[in-house]
Amino acid sequence: MTIRRLFGPEPRYPLVEAHEPSPSPELRLIAGPCSVESFDFIKDLAVELKEAGATMLRGGCYRFGTYPGENMGFVPERFRWLQIAASEAGLPFITEIMDREDIRYASYVDWVQVGARHAQHYPLLRAIGFMRKPVLLKRGTWMTLDETLGACEYLLKAGAPKVAICERGIVSFEDHCRWTLSISAIAALKEYTNIQVVGDPSHGSGDRALVPRLGLACIAAGADGIVCEVHPRPDESMSDAEQAIDIETFRDIAARYGGLVHANST
Ligand code: PEP
Ligand code: MN
Repeated sequence: MTIRRLFGPEPRYPLVEAHEPSPSPELRLIAGPCSVESFDFIKDLAVELKEAGATMLRGGCYRFGTYPGENMGFVPERFRWLQIAASEAGLPFITEIMDREDIRYASYVDWVQVGARHAQHYPLLRAIGFMRKPVLLKRGTWMTLDETLGACEYLLKAGAPKVAICERGIVSFEDHCRWTLSISAIAALKEYTNIQVVGDPSHGSGDRALVPRLGLACIAAGADGIVCEVHPRPDESMSDAEQAIDIETFRDIAARYGGLVHANST
């Protein structure tokens, strides 16, 4: 492993190195809205996404915007809506858990998402690991790969059976995108570790026009899948409208990228 550390001892990732996850086909094309807006909304969208090629449903049950004025808080029922929608559509589902207190509402999730802002919240990582569920860790926008693998060690040590890292963009001097999607992080993680990797071209760009190209770039760099924010009427999205793609665009992505994802994982 050639991932370096600026301070502290030589990096060692015993649990990451021992971690050889079986492939997770559900990670290939994760799709869904930024926010679970209502029960009917997510129920109809899940069916359309499944039909368009999604392999897992995503959706946010919290809505804490960057500024409290946009705050729509947390509605625990949204976990249940997401679960019913996913199961009626025949898809597994993933959702973020932000707070240790809320784990009690989420015992039935298929994958747990750790949000970028919480990727170094070690008590939360430990509590999520104790759930014994597969976890998708979104890399914090400030975190080195070494720090990201350290966070994976916390999850694995606490008992998570499977951990995947999501590259969702980092801070940089660039201002043409919301964040800078680090394609080299995807390549390095795939080259030097056994961890599964998912690219997020939606948060990684903040610009729906760039999502298809960046999704392809993630797959070309070796990602096991991508996660896209999709909305039936993107401009009406409750949150992250600028980066939401419509179902037709997602269908094109699925048609173009499905073969590529498969080629990487065989
Ligand atoms: C999300 O995927 O819903 C999300 C909030 O992303 P991030 O944690 O990467 O900002
Ligand atoms: Mn979002």
